[in-house]
Amino acid sequence: MLDRKLLEEQMCELPIFEYHYIDVSRLTFTQRVRDICRTECPMYGKSWACPPGTGTVEECRQRCLAYKKALLIATVTEVSDIANIRETLDTRADHEEVTRQVAELVRQQTEDVYVLSSEACDECETCAYPDAPCRFPDRMNPCIESHGILLTDTLEQLGIEFQYGGNIVTWFSLIFYNE
Ligand code: SF4
Repeated sequence: MLDRKLLEEQMCELPIFEYHYIDVSRLTFTQRVRDICRTECPMYGKSWACPPGTGTVEECRQRCLAYKKALLIATVTEVSDIANIRETLDTRADHEEVTRQVAELVRQQTEDVYVLSSEACDECETCAYPDAPCRFPDRMNPCIESHGILLTDTLEQLGIEFQYGGNIVTWFSLIFYNE
C-alpha cells in the first residue's frame, strides 16, 4: 500500500500546484486524440515518445491498465505572454524535472511505475526514432496524449480545474503505480 502521507510530505517540498490520485479505469482512451496528434502535431512520427512510436491506442491502453492507480500532478508557471510559444515551452523543463522527482518518490515505495508527461521527449538533440531504439528509455516519458488519453475528460469528471486563464501555463503528468 502506498504510504500517501509520506509521499505527500515529500511532495510538499516540490513546486506542485495540485495532485490527485485517480483510478486508471477513469481515464478515457480514444482514437480521436491520436487523430489530432497525426493531423496537428509536428512531433507525430518523430520521436519514440510520440505516436506511432508509442504503439496503437489499444496497446497504450493495455500498458496503462496494467496499473490500478495514477498520481496526477500539475505544475503552473506564469509567463509574460502565453501566446509566445517559445516562452511557454521553456516552462516545460521545470515540469519534467518535478515529474522525475515525484516518479522517484513513488518508485521508492513501489518499484514498478510508468510515467506519462508533457509534450515530446527532448532528451536528445535528434531522436533515434525510427532507425534505432530509444537511447534513454529510463528517462524518456511519453506524453499523455501519445497514449490516446483525453485528459480533459477525466479532469472534468473529477471536477478538477485545468484552465487558470491569463498567462498561466499548466502542465500535467501521470505516474502509474500499483498499490
Ligand atoms: S530519449 Fe532520445 S531517443 Fe529516446 S525518445 Fe527521447 S529523444 Fe528519442
